[in-house]
Amino acid sequence: MLAIGMVRGKPGVHALELRKPEIRQPDEVLVRVKEVGVDGTDFNMVKFDLQDIAEGRDEIVMGHEMVGLVEAVGNEVKSLAPGDVVVMTVRRGCGICEPCLHNQSDMCMTGLYTERGIHKRDGFLTEFVVDQEQYVMKVPSDLVKLAVFTEPLSIAEKGIEQIRVIQSRLPWTCAHPEHAFLSPDWGKCKTALVVGAGPLGLLATALLRLAEAHTYVADILPDDSPKVHLVRHIGANYIDARSKTPKEMVEFCCSAYGNVDIIFEASGAAATAIELINYMSRSSIYVMTGIPREEIAMKVDAAQLVRQIARYNQVVVGSVNSNRTHFEMALKDIPHINSRFGGMLEEMITHRFHVQDYRQIFAPRDPKHIKTVIEVEPWD
Ligand SMILES: [Zn+2]
Ligand SMILES: [Zn+2]
Repeated sequence: MLAIGMVRGKPGVHALELRKPEIRQPDEVLVRVKEVGVDGTDFNMVKFDLQDIAEGRDEIVMGHEMVGLVEAVGNEVKSLAPGDVVVMTVRRGCGICEPCLHNQSDMCMTGLYTERGIHKRDGFLTEFVVDQEQYVMKVPSDLVKLAVFTEPLSIAEKGIEQIRVIQSRLPWTCAHPEHAFLSPDWGKCKTALVVGAGPLGLLATALLRLAEAHTYVADILPDDSPKVHLVRHIGANYIDARSKTPKEMVEFCCSAYGNVDIIFEASGAAATAIELINYMSRSSIYVMTGIPREEIAMKVDAAQLVRQIARYNQVVVGSVNSNRTHFEMALKDIPHINSRFGGMLEEMITHRFHVQDYRQIFAPRDPKHIKTVIEVEPWD
């Protein structure tokens, strides 16, 4: 069967010929892959030749955002049956630490996890995959065409979950009990700054807007960019960071409200990310999800930073990957996002390729690119 991946010592992407996988354990599921989404992680793997291949192997199949169809199930599988449309999580736990043993491999303590299509384990950009039932979940029939967003949205869900868990320490950030951080309208009376209008920034913005937060999104894009159009379409405000310092960005977004309660970093622009800490408000929360690649040295006033974080009860928290519960949140929110923001998710898919055209997928992207989806087999 055809697979697309990376080969040790050979930069770029390559077509691989692999044997079709089989069910070998009673809790396993065989899935026929339909669509695979591509994100910045995939593009960077190819661009910077970041090969992360398992020992003893010379290749890794790419792709970690997938939708597929159950082809067959082992005889102990209960939640799935042939013909079900499914999505699969990415990380597989280390098998040692307590978080991994309790389905929270996104919080692995040893770092000995693997990730399908990213880190030492084959991904989904192929015709068939096998995995355990616990990593496979059924997609409601009306979400089939948007289910490729489940994995990227699950990353945003986890980031927002961190904010809500931390902010539950302070239920009275506004005078309205219905805007407490654990209620559906938790974002009202709160101001959020999202840095980066890529797919993750846009999906986080959609979740913040669903919760009614005043939301500003900063990026270095011209006003007529499709990403900026989407920012406004979601009811958020765009900040052109090309002409503003981090200080001016915060003044622009948040001085009218008096606070920037939330910062969601989704750009990986490391120097801006660190500088923004200086402009956090009292009791505010800053979640970092972007992963910078290059080395960046900068000067900071360490005393000022530490003094402020301590005195203002600030929290800077990192968030990576996601587990099954975040996939479930994503599947619940996809229809809300798409109906509330008028086909936002469809609009995000700017490029579609068939898997046979794999050489074009990772070519330099045009400025209108937001999200690429690869069709492995048509839905018919
Ligand atoms: Zn672990
Ligand atoms: Zn309120």
